[in-house]
Amino acid sequence: MTSKHPETIALHGGSHRADPNTGSVAVPIHMTTAYQFQDTGHAARLFSLSEMGNIYTRIMNPTCDALETRIAALEGGVAALAVGSGQAASTFCVLNLCQAGDNFVCSTDIYGGTWNLFANTFKQMGIECRFVDPADPQNFRRASDERTRCWYGETLPNPKLQVFPVAEVAAIGREIGIPLIMDNTAAPIIAKPLAAGAAVVMHSTTKWIGGHGTSIGGIVVDGGNFDWEKWGDRFPTLNTPDASYHGAVWTQAVKPLGPVAYIIRMRTCLLRDVGAAMSPFNAFMFVQGLETLPLRMERHCENATKVAAWLAKHPKVASVTHPSLFTGEAGRRAATLKGGFGSLMGFELKAGADAGKRFIEALTMFYHVANIGDARSLAIHPATTTHSQLDAQEQAMSGVTPGYVRLSIGIEHIDDIIADLSQALEKA
Ligand code: PLP
Repeated sequence: MTSKHPETIALHGGSHRADPNTGSVAVPIHMTTAYQFQDTGHAARLFSLSEMGNIYTRIMNPTCDALETRIAALEGGVAALAVGSGQAASTFCVLNLCQAGDNFVCSTDIYGGTWNLFANTFKQMGIECRFVDPADPQNFRRASDERTRCWYGETLPNPKLQVFPVAEVAAIGREIGIPLIMDNTAAPIIAKPLAAGAAVVMHSTTKWIGGHGTSIGGIVVDGGNFDWEKWGDRFPTLNTPDASYHGAVWTQAVKPLGPVAYIIRMRTCLLRDVGAAMSPFNAFMFVQGLETLPLRMERHCENATKVAAWLAKHPKVASVTHPSLFTGEAGRRAATLKGGFGSLMGFELKAGADAGKRFIEALTMFYHVANIGDARSLAIHPATTTHSQLDAQEQAMSGVTPGYVRLSIGIEHIDDIIADLSQALEKA
């Protein structure tokens, strides 16, 4: 399947065509733990990685493979790894390169859960996360030293929704041999971080890819476009013998398979050891979501731009945050998105935080939930929920003010979305 069009890739991309045994067109759910080896030689070749194939579902599964290969095609990468959640994906992205004593540099515009993981849990593991403001791409270079293993950002981070300067930061990193890892959760289809120079992309598939609020999952896509050997000293996990795999040096061991050292090491070491595998059933749910993702994104983005324009004119609203309204440098960065500005937005009521809470409680069609990216419209008050584990200074740095209300605009009819917002604003 050679199409370059996301609408076609979302339906036909990757390893699955019709199931060879049954002719099944839909991706079968392979609820199996293990796989029958042909003979002892076959088993040994699979374990030694001289032949690729299924061994055990903690490490690989055909339903997960259908999802992995299709998302890799959609993002323009060479291979992918599905895991149990977006948090597991972020964890693996960094742990695949960093060991105790190492550091990495991360944007301050990041999901609150990722912030906690990076600032606190990684610290307990001896890995330092250095947060920098992505407004100036050079901040990433300034914060780096010889123990910096990667840079990390979010393409369309809520709540600020300032589009991350992927091309600028990736280009600086490539000069000094530091790969950029992008969380593209909120901008599937409309952003292509690998094409802009990022080395790795991850998604919480829980959100727009699943699209129906049914399953938790994550995925990491290897761009296959970063030279881990050229900058060998910076990446000991990929360039020195791995005691857990007969002394394999990953950049050498997987050469016959292509530029996939990063993702193969993640699967064969991290997934093997940590066990944060995606359930095949969830992989099936994500394939279903993926198939209509391009169409849904169109409607998500169209509705959100209309809601942002409507809210901006509402007399009770003090400010609206949505990339469609940005001007200047923020507007230039927003224009790097293609086909829409995403479906997340925020706004502040003139009457402050209490009015924000009254507004959320008055909504009748919108769901009041912690999720984003559902086909349904959703609302939440971040300061007391998603970002409540951050202290006041951390909240301010990540753009959460006490009165900020976050909306994730769904694919319902625009008239119904605006009718619900309108009646709730009256009661706020
Ligand atoms: N990245 C972003 C941008 C998110 O919004 C989230 C969850 O809200 C995550 C990562 C974590 O994903 P999950 O909830 O699937 O673990």
